Amino acid sequence: MKQPPLIIDCHGHFTTAPKALENWRNQQIASIKDPSQTPKVADLKISDDELREAIETNQLKLMKERGSDLTIFSPRASFMAHHIGDFQVSSTWAAICNELVYRVTQLFPQHFIGAAMLPQSPGVDPKTCIPELEKCVKQYGQVGINLNPDPSGGHWNSPPLTDRHWYPIYEKMVEYDIPAMIHVSTSCNACFHTTGAHYINADTTAIMQLIQGDLFKDFPTLRFVIPHGGGAAPYHWGRYRGLAQEMKKPLLSEHLLKNIFFDTCVYHQPGIDLLTKVIPVDNILFASEMIGAVRGIDPESGHYYDDTKRYVQATPNLNEEQRFKVYEGNARRVFPRLDAALKQQGR
Ligand SMILES: [Zn+2]
Repeated sequence: MKQPPLIIDCHGHFTTAPKALENWRNQQIASIKDPSQTPKVADLKISDDELREAIETNQLKLMKERGSDLTIFSPRASFMAHHIGDFQVSSTWAAICNELVYRVTQLFPQHFIGAAMLPQSPGVDPKTCIPELEKCVKQYGQVGINLNPDPSGGHWNSPPLTDRHWYPIYEKMVEYDIPAMIHVSTSCNACFHTTGAHYINADTTAIMQLIQGDLFKDFPTLRFVIPHGGGAAPYHWGRYRGLAQEMKKPLLSEHLLKNIFFDTCVYHQPGIDLLTKVIPVDNILFASEMIGAVRGIDPESGHYYDDTKRYVQATPNLNEEQRFKVYEGNARRVFPRLDAALKQQGR
């Protein structure tokens, strides 16, 4: 019999880190007004036992219950909060968060592999993020990055993703053959709820920016994962195909789909049915973003909203071979360093 696929969840964050992390961050934020209060990195003390407990009683427990094998794990997205403080603040914070994720991946190498947050800061040249990116790939063995297209936290004053502003990051991504998940952080604009509006808006915005530009002509091997099922784009795919046509762009299959991928963080069956019907199966990666924005149980199904494997299993749009792609095959292709790490483990 054929081996069952490895279930790779390409979108998980360390949302359950010990409270000491948040306390340290709060002190760091307080110190922006009073630098004499600046906490030392060494003031943050989290033991391996605390990390083990944070993972074993949360993400790993649910992974085992739901039957997923491995999570691409990154720092908590809403805590990145790149809009807070200056580059130095973001830089120290990113280093701490990335190291914690690295420690989790060392403690649970069978179940977690890392992706990095970047020390982005509004108005600061993205090339300042390169040293942290390099450390995360070379020293920590991380296999991807999260790139925030709006480090202002909801005010959208950075150039679009197709602008040369971002090219230093893309050049490194190509050099290391790592993809980026396009992922915003907390909204500090009261008009946009962080996970309900800002996240989904950003996913949709990223896709439209990529349609308007010609980024993948300059970077034919660059790869982006658009999370949360691609925001509104799959639902409105006809609009985006039509807009691309008006703009005299190539077909989206040529213009975008060699380079962008959608995750399955859509929290109900009709959403996954639509995604798998509209978007080619080669462009869909399994993910749950568990434990994340939506933690409750759906009274209609009796299951957790973010138990997305149920929907992928149940959709009539995928056969066994296509499910293999969504669970494992596509992730290995989009994250070659993940594939290499798995092969080293004999998986
Ligand atoms: Zn996320």
